Amino acid sequence: MLAEQASQQGFPVKVYTDAQASASRVAAGLFTPLTGRNLTPSWQLEEALPRLEPFYRQLEQDLGLSVFHFIPSCRIFRSEEQAQRWQERGPSPYVSGAMQVPAGVRAPFGAVEIRGGGWLNIPPLLDALERKRKARGEWLDAPEEADLEIDCSGQAASRHPLWSEAGWRNAHGDILDLQIPGLDPGWVYQFDRFLLPLGQDRYRCGATYFWHEHRPLPRAEGAQELLEDLQAVLEPPLQLLDHRAGIRPVALSRVPILGAHPDSERHYIFNGFGSKGVLYLPWLSERFLQHLKEPSHELPKECLASRRILRQRDREITRRGRR
Ligand SMILES: Cc1cc2nc3c(=O)[nH]c(=O)nc-3n(C[C@H](O)[C@H](O)[C@H](O)COP(=O)(O)OP(=O)(O)OC[C@H]3O[C@@H](n4cnc5c(N)ncnc54)[C@H](O)[C@@H]3O)c2cc1C
Repeated sequence: MLAEQASQQGFPVKVYTDAQASASRVAAGLFTPLTGRNLTPSWQLEEALPRLEPFYRQLEQDLGLSVFHFIPSCRIFRSEEQAQRWQERGPSPYVSGAMQVPAGVRAPFGAVEIRGGGWLNIPPLLDALERKRKARGEWLDAPEEADLEIDCSGQAASRHPLWSEAGWRNAHGDILDLQIPGLDPGWVYQFDRFLLPLGQDRYRCGATYFWHEHRPLPRAEGAQELLEDLQAVLEPPLQLLDHRAGIRPVALSRVPILGAHPDSERHYIFNGFGSKGVLYLPWLSERFLQHLKEPSHELPKECLASRRILRQRDREITRRGRR
C-alpha cells in the first residue's frame, strides 16, 4: 500500500517480495479507537483515525473493491474490576453507555458499545495491488540495486543485518475461523479477544500473543486459548473451520519504526506496525512520503529508526563499559 501511494505521488517504484509468510494475509484487519484491556486510546489516535476512511475509500475506488467497513463493537467486560475501571474513566466520544447485550452473549459484568472502529479485508486489496503492479512491469522476480531501498519486510527485518539493532519484540498470533449460528452479526465482539462477523454465520476470532515462537505456524495451545475464551462469553455452539497464524512485526517501543538508517541514506525502513497496521498505515505512509520528498518534513521522533539504532548502540557501549 505504501508502494501504491508512492507511485501515485510520482516516485518510480518497483516491488520485490521473497514470498515468505505475510502477517497482513492472516490479520483480521480490525481498527478500533480504544484498545487493550483498559480501553485506552491508541498512540496518536487523533492524527491516525481521521485519515482512515478517505485513504481506504480512495483505494477501493481506484481498484474497484469494497473492503473497508465500519462496524460497532460490543465490548464485554470480563470482570467486575474491568467494568469498575471503565466507570472510573469517565465519558469518551467513542463509547456509548451500558448497552443491551445481544442474544447469545454472556456478559454478567456488562458491556459498552464502541463506535468509530471497523475492519479492512486486506487480502483482496493486496491481490489487486499486486496485479496492478505486475501489469505495469514493476514487480521484480529478484532484488535489484536501487537509488533508495525501503524495507517493508515485516517480522523478517528483525533478523536483517541493517535493521536488527532497531529493537524488536515480534509476537506470534493464532486466529480462528468459525461457524456460529444464531449470533447477531451486527457487531464485532470484544472480550480481550475479538470476534469479527464475516457473513453467513461465519466469524473470525483472534488473536493470541506468544513471544517464543518465530515461525508462523498454528499452535494447538493458541486455538485452545481462543476456544476457551469464546465458550466463556457465547452461548451458541461453535464449529471450528480454520486455524491460521502469523508473526506481528513489533517494535520494542511499541510504535512503528520508520526512516533512514543512520549509516546509509540509501536504506529506509517502514515497518514495526505491531497489531495496528490498518490504523497507522494511512497517516504514516503520508508522513513517510512527505519526508522522502522534503526531509525537513520530519517523521514522528518516536518512530525514527536512526534514533532507535543509535540509542541501542549507546546502551551496548555502556553495558560493555560496566563489565
Ligand atoms: C493473528 C494476527 C492478527 C492480526 N490482526 C490485526 C488486526 O486486526 N488489525 C491490524 O491492523 N493488524 C493486525 N495484525 C497485524 C498486522 O498483520 C501487521 O501490522 C501488518 O500485517 C504488518 O504488515 P507488513 O507489511 O509490515 O508485514 P507483512 O504483512 O508480514 O509483509 C511482509 C512482506 O515482506 C516479505 N518479505 C519478508 N522478508 C523479505 C525479504 N528478505 N525480501 C523481500 N521481501 C521479504 C514477505 O514475503 C511479506 O510479503 C495481526 C497480525 C496477526 C499475526
